[in-house]
Amino acid sequence: MKYKQLKNYKTFLAFFIPMICGITFAKSNNTTNYFAQNPLGNPVTGNSGEYYNGVTYVTYQGPLEDAYVAAYHHETKTWVGPFKAGTSLMGKDTSRKIDNHGKPTLVIDEKGYIHIVFGGHGGTPELGKNPLGNYHYGKQIHVVSKKPLDISSWEVLDNISPFGTYSQFIKMDNGDLYLFYRHGAHRSDRVYQKSVDNGRTFSAPVSYLKTKQTKGTKENPIIHDSWYAHHAKGQNNDVIVSYNYHVCKGPNHDGERHNVYYMRFDTDANEWYNVKGGKLTLPITKEQADSSTLVYNTGDMWTHNGIARLDTKGNPHITSYEGEHEGKTHGGAKSIIHYYWSDTEWVRSKSKGLPIGASGEMQIISSNEINMLLSYKEGNVGEVALWKSTDRGESFIKNKIFNSEKGSNFDLSNFIINAKPEAQIIVAAKNNKANGKVYLVGKNGFIKR
Ligand code: ZN
Repeated sequence: MKYKQLKNYKTFLAFFIPMICGITFAKSNNTTNYFAQNPLGNPVTGNSGEYYNGVTYVTYQGPLEDAYVAAYHHETKTWVGPFKAGTSLMGKDTSRKIDNHGKPTLVIDEKGYIHIVFGGHGGTPELGKNPLGNYHYGKQIHVVSKKPLDISSWEVLDNISPFGTYSQFIKMDNGDLYLFYRHGAHRSDRVYQKSVDNGRTFSAPVSYLKTKQTKGTKENPIIHDSWYAHHAKGQNNDVIVSYNYHVCKGPNHDGERHNVYYMRFDTDANEWYNVKGGKLTLPITKEQADSSTLVYNTGDMWTHNGIARLDTKGNPHITSYEGEHEGKTHGGAKSIIHYYWSDTEWVRSKSKGLPIGASGEMQIISSNEINMLLSYKEGNVGEVALWKSTDRGESFIKNKIFNSEKGSNFDLSNFIINAKPEAQIIVAAKNNKANGKVYLVGKNGFIKR
């Protein structure tokens, strides 16, 4: 079974055209548009779903911050689950707010076993010494289905570091599994662990982005370099990484992050490259990141990390969320900015028209035509809509709203891996007045159950 990226225009049209023909959340004939109504907090992140042999498997954060899983059988149009796949150490202490750092990531190995990693926010000293960073909470946990393609029973595999957070699985065309994460709290290296035996054993963590103490200031005598990163499958057995820089201050800690960076991990050659094909030396420090991998220096502007996707020529396009710091811990509302590599240089598109505070997915149809599937608030109304550019990101227009709901916030996963047109992305809704809900969305709108 070969991994295939969703990069085909027809697939995309098949996905969006019916979607934009008008879809509502209406309930009829005892069916619902959602498949689960027990998500907790911001329940989905990154790679949370995969299609495999006629079934789309999805995972999300459920009650008590535990990992939940459900499966949609395409031929019979039926759902299985949700089941609890694993128990988090977080989410049990009612005096703490919802953590949201241990949201689950899912991958299916070449034998059909389903793997989920979840529950980490850097771990605690009780778990032992963290050689690559510091501590915060939780424990990164790996569970696997007891039987292939069966989500009803699970077991823990004690074969990865407990000090992970922001865990993300990526499967290569050759079946190798890569688990990317931050090895602890803010002052921790970004690492990966590799498995060549369907997740039964993993290599020791390899640091690829280095955290280290740097020059402090009078207000913040201790400052560490730190990183936020997004990982995606590139061409062949490549992983593409877009990231930003976190100025990790002490004692006056805040969410200050800057800049946009990009690099590529050729897992066949076990080498890392910048966009021009220049070789990088691991672990990458702030100095090397600045000199070799910088897409854009945002100056005083604060950033949140977006995603990277490739166009048909293999050139990367990147999103970044950028705005003034407004004195809040994590900065104010940000504008989504689109970047692309032009063959010779990085171009920061004007990105006009996109809603403030939007976030979501991107698909590059051609070098001029870019679609974004975005979630954002218009006043009190949560909206998920397709925005389209036909001028290489200079301007975007709203093509069609496909969901709009008063009082709701919507979270989007990344596109489901190897997705079928009818089941492309997981959408989670959080409403102050009602239970949250989780939806699987594709060319026919919401997959009902
Ligand atoms: Zn920090």
